[in-house]
Amino acid sequence: MLQIHNTLSRQKEEFKPLHPGKIGMYVCGVTVYDYCHLGHARTYTSADVIVRYFRYRGYDVRYVRNITDVDDKIIKRANEKQESIDAVTERFIKAMHEDFAALDLLPPNDEPRATQYIPDMIAMIEKIIANGHAYVGTNGDVYFEVRTLDSYGCLSHHDIEQLESGARVEVSEVKRDPLDFVLWKLAKPGEPSWNSPWGAGRPGWHIECSAMANDLLGEYFDIHAGGRDLIFPHHENENAQSRAALKTPFVKVWIHAGFLQMGKDKMSKSLGNFITIRDVLRDHDAEVLRFFLLSSHYRSPLVYTEDLLLQARQSLVRFYTALRFLPLDKKIENSEYEKQFIAAMDDDFNTPLAISVLFDLAHEIQRLREKDSVAAAQHAGLLKSLAGVIGILQTDAEQFFQADESVDAGKVEQLITARNEARASKNWAEADRIRDELMSMKVAIEDGANGTTWKMVR
Ligand code: AMP
Ligand code: ZN
Repeated sequence: MLQIHNTLSRQKEEFKPLHPGKIGMYVCGVTVYDYCHLGHARTYTSADVIVRYFRYRGYDVRYVRNITDVDDKIIKRANEKQESIDAVTERFIKAMHEDFAALDLLPPNDEPRATQYIPDMIAMIEKIIANGHAYVGTNGDVYFEVRTLDSYGCLSHHDIEQLESGARVEVSEVKRDPLDFVLWKLAKPGEPSWNSPWGAGRPGWHIECSAMANDLLGEYFDIHAGGRDLIFPHHENENAQSRAALKTPFVKVWIHAGFLQMGKDKMSKSLGNFITIRDVLRDHDAEVLRFFLLSSHYRSPLVYTEDLLLQARQSLVRFYTALRFLPLDKKIENSEYEKQFIAAMDDDFNTPLAISVLFDLAHEIQRLREKDSVAAAQHAGLLKSLAGVIGILQTDAEQFFQADESVDAGKVEQLITARNEARASKNWAEADRIRDELMSMKVAIEDGANGTTWKMVR
């Protein structure tokens, strides 16, 4: 039984899709004005593993991840750089696609951009006004009237009075209530704008996701996800807008990922404590980064350190050592390991527990290796296939050990050939000298039945 923690109920619930066999899943995407950082990697890798697992369990998933390509921060960045908004967003969308492909994140089925959905957003705002939940403020902007919706606060578990007293007392004569949030804002000179019944302007941030999710997944869909910073106000407001416009519930299960942190702080652009994905990938394999991200539960906070990346690499070395020299095309069926892996992932996508099952499986492969090579290979086939469900261990083992940019693989092969020639002519001194030379390059060699193999040591 698959159980998922739902932010709405603050509990793990048995998951039943709204339509048998099918899942609609929406994940809030990136605001494209800078390079993506490790915090993004965390949330989107969590979503990626959830989608992969649903598919492994036989569901037909429609995965939607939008792109926010109109926003105050984008406009500011374009002005600073004296670039057009399109030039800024195109550049960072391209960079995001490169980074996400490098991380082996599955492409979403749909990747709508906010600027493609302006007419849908306008139509939705009109419905919200018609249903009595929004109004035009004295400055001409359109606001959602929070107090008209009884369910407001249900997702973030905020009491409206509490919110009110906690809210900064804004000196605002334009809104009826400080909590009311903007649906449409009129353009200031030099800002991008679209025509609307309320004048030329642009949408508020939250309305885009309500409009895009409604178009692509329908009125009421299965899963909505994002990082936990989005619970309030973004998701609370999306929820309010969709309910107010469509008069239906909006989302069945809300999933929120914990923060990737630098020490005690959330990694974020505004705090300036961020490390971009591309910076990390200069020094580390993408698989190492993914392994590090999956080594904690998606809802727990995860503190980034270089040391944890090195540990992740060591874990992968253990796994690839278990897969090495074995054919992987057949897997053992009905294995206890597979059942345990499913039980772990069924428990709110518990990847650390699932990985510990994979470690047990790796030990079993090593135990079987000398005794029963067929069983060892079948277990190795299972390890590779289960690991694929969370997106790891899909590289060829030899390639994994050799893929290290700090070493020239061609030179290593040459030295190994020279050493084998020296050994063949019984020139042991030369063979030892070459082994030492390889050691000084941090390359360890092993002579086995299939010839000499090598790996990097750290
Ligand atoms: P943004 O580009 O800031 O709108 O964020 C895009 C997505 O990344 C949202 O789902 C955020 O919740 C998520 N995100 C941003 N920073 C972090 C972080 N430090 N840890 C986890 N998720 C994050
Ligand atoms: Zn959103």
